[in-house]
Amino acid sequence: MNVNKMYINGQWVLSKSGEHREIINPATEEVIANVTEGTVEDAREAIHAAYKAFYEVGWGETHARYRAQLLFEVADKLKQQIEAFALLETKNNGKPLRESSYDIADAVNQLEYYAGLITKPTGQVYDVPDDIQAYVVREPIGVVGQIVPWNYPLVMAVQKIAPALAAGCTVVIKPAEHTPLSLMKLFEIIDEVGFPPGVVNLVLGPGQTVGAEISENPLVDKVAFTGGTVTGKKIMRAATETLKNVSLELGGKSPNIVFEDADFETAVDYALYAIFANQGQVCSAGSRLLLQDSLYEKFVPELVKRAKAISVGNGLDANTEMGPLISKPHMEKVLDYIKVGIAEGAELLCGGNRLYEKGYYVAPTIFGKTKPTMRIVKEEIFGPVLVIQSFKTEEEAIRLANDSIYGLAGAVFTADGAKAQRVIRKLRAGITWINTYHLTFNEAPWGGYKQSGIGRELGTFGLEAYQEVKQVNINLNVCPSGWFSKKDE
Ligand code: NAD
Repeated sequence: MNVNKMYINGQWVLSKSGEHREIINPATEEVIANVTEGTVEDAREAIHAAYKAFYEVGWGETHARYRAQLLFEVADKLKQQIEAFALLETKNNGKPLRESSYDIADAVNQLEYYAGLITKPTGQVYDVPDDIQAYVVREPIGVVGQIVPWNYPLVMAVQKIAPALAAGCTVVIKPAEHTPLSLMKLFEIIDEVGFPPGVVNLVLGPGQTVGAEISENPLVDKVAFTGGTVTGKKIMRAATETLKNVSLELGGKSPNIVFEDADFETAVDYALYAIFANQGQVCSAGSRLLLQDSLYEKFVPELVKRAKAISVGNGLDANTEMGPLISKPHMEKVLDYIKVGIAEGAELLCGGNRLYEKGYYVAPTIFGKTKPTMRIVKEEIFGPVLVIQSFKTEEEAIRLANDSIYGLAGAVFTADGAKAQRVIRKLRAGITWINTYHLTFNEAPWGGYKQSGIGRELGTFGLEAYQEVKQVNINLNVCPSGWFSKKDE
């Protein structure tokens, strides 16, 4: 049997456990690969390699131009294989091919963005008293552990690897158990490009063991995590012992607010896109639709009609608009939430069921007549399930929108520009939209308020997340301070 390997210290290696994991295509339930199952020992080896590469070999002291050149080479090679990577991503994750192709192109852009950014001017100079020239430099944080989820396997990995390597950090990255394949293929490119051994390492295996080791190992200076809020809290606790720098990109239950004066077609279209793109497995999904009550009777039937018409199927089929969920347990979790919603007394307007015998498909599902206290309104379902909440006034819309432990994203649809900005100002969320949804760019910061996370990725913020800040003070008048008087013996 062919077992795919991890990449540690510049070598392709099998896990010391000798065990492997079957990787399943969620559209067909077929085994599409076997990958080595990493252990704590493998994680430690990778961390040691990264430690040596940073503190002994001196990756962090290499010139920015050299690191940029390597990242541009990775970007160029990835660009030449967008189709092959997209196919692999769809087979492993299930998302429609059009979404995978977009994701891989996005990853190319992230590599190019950080390769370009790292050679640009940085630092600050201060005008201070006492003949001192003071300035600030940014330096790499050191050894970075990165843990990523399965919903955007390559993009989530690259948006962490690219700024970390650009900054001069060394990296140990762990993909989610279900979706290692595209990242493993990226490491073939990383190997070809020829980073010094130990600079960038790939470990596989369970979060509870391998992920936990990355979060608590004292040789790791920073841990960057994207995933569920419950896991994020565990990681933060694990990192406390050595006070690691921590970045967390966590879950959400984001409000999409539609006022009666919104452009009707645009608002319906984006309400669907907000929740059903990537099967609803998007941290920033517009999973709560807040509708002004005067619009309810017109809006909901059209929304339901269009949700029912979404083509659900294998992501490789050109007609597919929505694919399967990632795994059987995840599908069951989503179906359980639907049962909870029905039991709580919400009105099931469409969907609510599994589709087909093979593959983990769930029909686009919409609940009406919800209450703010219902679990389906409060908790992140992370699937194709939309809950509708209605409101009368702008104040009520804002109150309902912010009534969440999360604060990742939010949108408002209205023709009134001032009202749109008033509402956005009051939204306690890190990513917001006016008359659109989901569109974000690598140039702008990504991250959440409240229990949706700590810190920001992407843009210049994403680079700073991997940098320490050092102040330097130079005496321009080299003579004794005289603070303590010089006494003759
Ligand atoms: P998850 O938290 O179960 O797993 C994410 C990663 O953490 C995986 O690699 C997993 O192996 C690892 N992990 C699990 N337990 C761990 C532990 N104890 N210590 C260290 N690592 C551990 O999340 P998931 O189910 O893969 O992804 C879905 C979640 O991710 C959703 O909540 C979603 O909102 C969130 N997400 C957030 C963003 C964002 O940018 N804010 C982006 C994508 C996904």
